[in-house]
Amino acid sequence: MARPTADTTDRERSDYSSATGNPMQCLCCGHDSLELFHTVRGVPVNNSLLLDSAEEARTLPVGDLDLGCCVRCGFIQNTAFDSSLVDYGDGYEDTQAHSGHFVEFATELSRGLIERHGLENSRTLEIGCGKGDFLRLLCGLTGGSGVGYDPALGPGALETTTDRLDFHAEPYTESTREAADLVVCRHTLEHIPNVAGFVGMLRNSLHEETPVVFFEVPDTLRILREGAFWDLYYEHCSYFTGPTLQWLFASQGFEVLDQTLGFNDQYLLLEARPSSGTPGTIPMVEHASFIRNEARAFADRVEEMRNAWKSRIMGWRLEGRTMVIWGAGSKAVGYLAATGVGASISAVVDINPRKRGRFLPGSALRVISPDDLLDMDPDVVIAMNPVYESEITNDLRSRGLNAEVVAV
Ligand SMILES: [Zn+2]
Repeated sequence: MARPTADTTDRERSDYSSATGNPMQCLCCGHDSLELFHTVRGVPVNNSLLLDSAEEARTLPVGDLDLGCCVRCGFIQNTAFDSSLVDYGDGYEDTQAHSGHFVEFATELSRGLIERHGLENSRTLEIGCGKGDFLRLLCGLTGGSGVGYDPALGPGALETTTDRLDFHAEPYTESTREAADLVVCRHTLEHIPNVAGFVGMLRNSLHEETPVVFFEVPDTLRILREGAFWDLYYEHCSYFTGPTLQWLFASQGFEVLDQTLGFNDQYLLLEARPSSGTPGTIPMVEHASFIRNEARAFADRVEEMRNAWKSRIMGWRLEGRTMVIWGAGSKAVGYLAATGVGASISAVVDINPRKRGRFLPGSALRVISPDDLLDMDPDVVIAMNPVYESEITNDLRSRGLNAEVVAV
């Protein structure tokens, strides 16, 4: 599922690495046309993995972000990405199913798909289904059946296998045959280096079938414009803006039916169908040049923003204020890696009980539950996602806590 950080689900991993060994080759359009614009050294290679000890969290391997923007298609990729470093193993925890706001989003999304495409009593295939939360929710609304594939399938998914819901702890491949009316792939494509290879594989696997295909990825234009450096992390090696995502699907044999923004405009939601004609072409030069300019502006803006956050945190620290971060997910890891303010923060709060008592990669901050805040009585709560600001404030007030809530 997708996460607000949402990033939710899990990923088909490393089979779609670059085959050429040329890090400057664009893995969306294939041209040797990437222009580097943003570098961060030494970021944790896993941002959703939680560790059992502070020592493990501190010593987790790190990698670099060397983001390049393709001047031909506008795709952005981490040219320093090494998929062998990323581990989507047992400690991988990215479900958002515990947030009321997220469940609402997922429910509306599902209802929209069902209504637009007449998917009552249909069969859904989900690629990168994580713990199966979204598939379970969607199939509950279609009244039909579902099958999920994910090499990092959570144990929670297998336990809920029924005659209507089936899960496979393996990657979806070209030879997988699953007749489906709807194919869903949420918050997975951004973890795959060779995006053209992956979308092409999906097209080939469908043969003559024409299911509705739904993909959801973070919208990178928002990240660039907001200077949201906390939304760039090692696990995400591939970054899309709207026209580039559409171009990718058109170039791999799909007809794009619709593309919108969702989850407070943080995600790109694309609906497509396999097409039988020749791959469509969309002139990309203008868009690519627009994105290149946005990427350059982002690079200028980020240094300023990082310094502003550092001084703000330092000021609160000098005033003796207790600070916690709310949201033990990817954004917190990205934010702490880029600012280095972890030593000033007391803990990271998360509503997911499975995260409690574990440690965040890199900073090694301990994850606590909202109940634990009663003892700590923090002065400042830094919300890692503005979407949750009012939800967090309501939670704090209901516990009699008056901490100032500040969103990134
Ligand atoms: Zn390209």
